[in-house]
This record gives sequence, structure tokens and C-alpha cells, in this order.
Amino acid sequence: MSGKLTGGCLCEQVRYECQGEPKAATYCHCPDCRRTTGSAFNLGVAVDAKALEIISGTVKAYTKTADSGNKITREFCPKCGSPLFTKVDAFPHTVWIKAGSLDEPELIKPTHQIWTEKAVKWAYIDDDLPSFPQAGPNVEK
Ligand SMILES: [Zn+2]
Ligand SMILES: [Zn+2]
Repeated sequence: MSGKLTGGCLCEQVRYECQGEPKAATYCHCPDCRRTTGSAFNLGVAVDAKALEIISGTVKAYTKTADSGNKITREFCPKCGSPLFTKVDAFPHTVWIKAGSLDEPELIKPTHQIWTEKAVKWAYIDDDLPSFPQAGPNVEK
């Protein structure tokens, strides 16, 4: 991982850039991340807050006190709802970027996972599951 990360939301209202190396890339299995992503877990890319710049658009924020006692602010696109950034009051110099919002998500190398005791079984995909390289079968048939 090096150089510049770029990304944005689904509707492209929000675009951002980030210079420099991520500090970590963390899978989080906590229930709050499950709800906010609508998926099994979040992959948060920790970057220096000063390195991240929103180059177009504006985000909305929602703040909740987590089980850890930390106030966690999650920022998202107000138009399409894509979750983008997470900020933790205890760590003011860091922003976590949602890895799925990156233009080149393959650049990210996950470093660890947290809250695994809360992980759902379907967070881990069974290799034997029927798989389709592109769209799957019609669920209405
Ligand atoms: Zn959007
Ligand atoms: Zn979490």
C-alpha cells in the first residue's frame, strides 16, 4: 500500500483522497458495524486524519456511544446512504475509511480483526457454497 487512495460513495456526490500509508486495515465484527454496513462486518482502513480530504460533496454524521464507552461518529452520503468514514473521540488523529468505498479496494491488506466473539457464522464464506462468476440464478423462479 503506498501513494494515494481515492474513493467515494455510490452516487458519486462524495469523493475523497488520502495521501500516505494506512496505519492498519481492520475487520470489525461488532453489531454496530454490522448494522451500519448492512453486511457481516466492516473493513476499516485507518489513516491519518490530516491526510484525508473530501474533494467534493458533503457527508452527514451519526454519533453513538459504543459498548467500549467511546463516542463513535459514522459519516455517510446523505443522498445515497453509502457509509464512508468512522471517527472515534478517543483517537482524534485517525479516520477509518470504509474499504468498500475505495476506487481500488484491492490495494488494501487487512492487518487484523476485532470483536470476533460477536461475528456471525455467515461472516466466513464456505468454499463449498455454489458459486457463480457473475449474476446468480433467478430467485423468483
Ligand atoms: Zn452518494
Ligand atoms: Zn465495529
